[in-house]
Amino acid sequence: MVIQWFPGHMTKALRMIDENVKIVDGFIYVLDARAPYSSLNPEFVKRINNKPYLYVINKCDLADPKKTRAWVEYFQNTGKPCVALNSVSTNSSRIVYQEVLKMFAEKIERQKQKGVSKPIRLMVLGIPNSGKSTLINNLCGQKRANTGDKPGITRGKQWINVDDKIQLLDTPGTLFPSFENQDIAKCVAYIGSINDDILDIEGLALELIGKLSKIYPDLMKERYGVELSDIPLETYEAICKKRGFILRGKEFDYTRGAKTVIDEFRKGKIGNITLETPNEEYVRN
Ligand code: GDP
Repeated sequence: MVIQWFPGHMTKALRMIDENVKIVDGFIYVLDARAPYSSLNPEFVKRINNKPYLYVINKCDLADPKKTRAWVEYFQNTGKPCVALNSVSTNSSRIVYQEVLKMFAEKIERQKQKGVSKPIRLMVLGIPNSGKSTLINNLCGQKRANTGDKPGITRGKQWINVDDKIQLLDTPGTLFPSFENQDIAKCVAYIGSINDDILDIEGLALELIGKLSKIYPDLMKERYGVELSDIPLETYEAICKKRGFILRGKEFDYTRGAKTVIDEFRKGKIGNITLETPNEEYVRN
């Protein structure tokens, strides 16, 4: 199974990012807590490296808390601010708001002394489905408002006022033009950031079952009530059998089994799971 997905709208999205990099003060870089490493996009790093950015490890309610703490520490050790967040929870994004004000405290102070009050402008980046819109809505509360086009700025984009201090620019989720590392591609697929329609869902489930059986065997046993085998296909079939996913002729209904396992993983029903642990292997940021 080889995963490759970079539809045309992502090229456009990267172009939109390029066009606006110059006019923002910094970035909010949203990562998925279940796969923080795989949700780093090298295409973003190339573009944002010389401006301040805040890592937001989102969906931490679905992830393994111990590993989330380790990832926050890992990113902070790269010298960048980083917070963990469940952006579905009301007002949780307060921590993001405060971190942004801290990052730009000097700039805000300088402006104050000059009697100027201009909002800090941030671009929100992240791979598809990482929770950018949810975070923006959380930051804006009830009063989400698009300020619309401004003269002198590329038409068509929408500035979103958080308040008079912060303005956000949402960007379409973007992946990488090519997945050289298929382990990354698989993680991105497991967490739902690749359109399922282009995926071999049974192949993906087989890989996910193999991975989860290795890194979270207890959660797998508890959820599915089966013995785990070293051969993932045997575990896959045991899950199908246990759940009664059998077709006429006593064939296993692999498709139903695959959709079920992937869906339950994504919804956090198997448990709090993080697929990647920070270690020497993960040095890219
Ligand atoms: P975007 O494509 O990056 O804008 O992602 P969305 O904001 O549309 O979120 C994608 C899905 O993830 C939606 O179903 C959200 O409800 C869900 N989601 C976003 N943030 C969180 C979070 O922190 N925790 C959980 N459990 N779900 C989240």
